[in-house]
Amino acid sequence: MTGGFKEPVYVTRPLLPDLEKFKLRLNKIWESKWLSNMGEQHRLFEESARKALKAPYVSLFNNGTTALMAAVRFLGLKGEVITTPFTFPATPHALLLNGVHPVFCDIENETMNIDPDKIEAAITSKTTGILAVHIFGTPCDTVKIQKIADKHGLKVIYDAAHAFNTEIDGVGIGNFGDISMFSFHATKLFNTGEGGCLTYKDGCFKPGIELLRNMGIKNEEEVITAGFNGKMTEIQAALGMLNLELIEEERGKRSRLQEIYHRELSGVEGVACYKNPENIKESLQYFTVRIDEKQFGSSRDSVYEEFKKYNVFTRKYFYPLCSEYPCYKDYPSAEKELLPSAHKAADEVLCLPFYGELTNEDVEKICGILKGLKK
Ligand SMILES: *Cc1c(COP(=O)(O)O)cnc(C)c1O
Repeated sequence: MTGGFKEPVYVTRPLLPDLEKFKLRLNKIWESKWLSNMGEQHRLFEESARKALKAPYVSLFNNGTTALMAAVRFLGLKGEVITTPFTFPATPHALLLNGVHPVFCDIENETMNIDPDKIEAAITSKTTGILAVHIFGTPCDTVKIQKIADKHGLKVIYDAAHAFNTEIDGVGIGNFGDISMFSFHATKLFNTGEGGCLTYKDGCFKPGIELLRNMGIKNEEEVITAGFNGKMTEIQAALGMLNLELIEEERGKRSRLQEIYHRELSGVEGVACYKNPENIKESLQYFTVRIDEKQFGSSRDSVYEEFKKYNVFTRKYFYPLCSEYPCYKDYPSAEKELLPSAHKAADEVLCLPFYGELTNEDVEKICGILKGLKK
């Protein structure tokens, strides 16, 4: 039996810049006495984030969820929006909190993204949009989704919370659909502690989105719509500037660890790893496997429990499905029989530890533990 780890190994660790460098930026903020409301750091970071994401326009937010809510509100979505149940709660909640009902559509078995071939059957006279998620950074079928949207006059929002740096044929993932949302939460590949942004191709969106972000305040004399407070602080933006400098190195390390995972786990019966095609630049935010209980001899849940005995804390993303939450379970689209691939994914997926500080030996050991659990 392979021994466990002395210190707990978590699924991720946040990227953190050199503290002395951060203090230099904090000094500037202290001198300026400007803590929020789009100051110098915000201006610099917005431009840097825009370049990193290869996106035409960016609006920064205090977190990804408020950004997503602003997108739903700005596009005027109402009635029903078709989305995936295999995601983080923020995705359907951003709809419901805007008075829009999510309609759950099953996912593709391979990519675990919304199945474009099942979207049209879910469209009704009330449908106003599609909210798709690039799950684990794997791009959705953006071509098929756009075709359906154009045919039926629907808006498309992408939840790209997992897809920082993902590109399709060299095009930044934030260029697809009407609006995309990125999360900069501490657990994401790129973080500002809490934070997020929207990206979009149409520059005309900028004033309207940013009005929602700041209470609908146009100027000192006029408040022209109902907005909320979604503003990113100077301290978040400063952290973002420094963490952006670390991304390439982190990606290099993760790419090496991913290779080891693939090498060690290929050929293990009952353990499947999804591989993106060659034209995709991967986000490298997660490393996930699927445990097929019949072939592996042990369920995903028991693998998850067993790993803890070795001081390895994996995550069951995304279990339970959103369609199982009390606020959605009675929706007609939430019926289990309609979502077989989503239920299968929720029962099989396990996120393994994946961050640059892990050594090759750590990953080999994690794979050894997993292989030891096969029955
Ligand atoms: C993290 C995440 C969000 C929300 O991000 P926050 O920045 O934490 O508000 C939304 N959707 C998905 C799929 C996520 O994983």
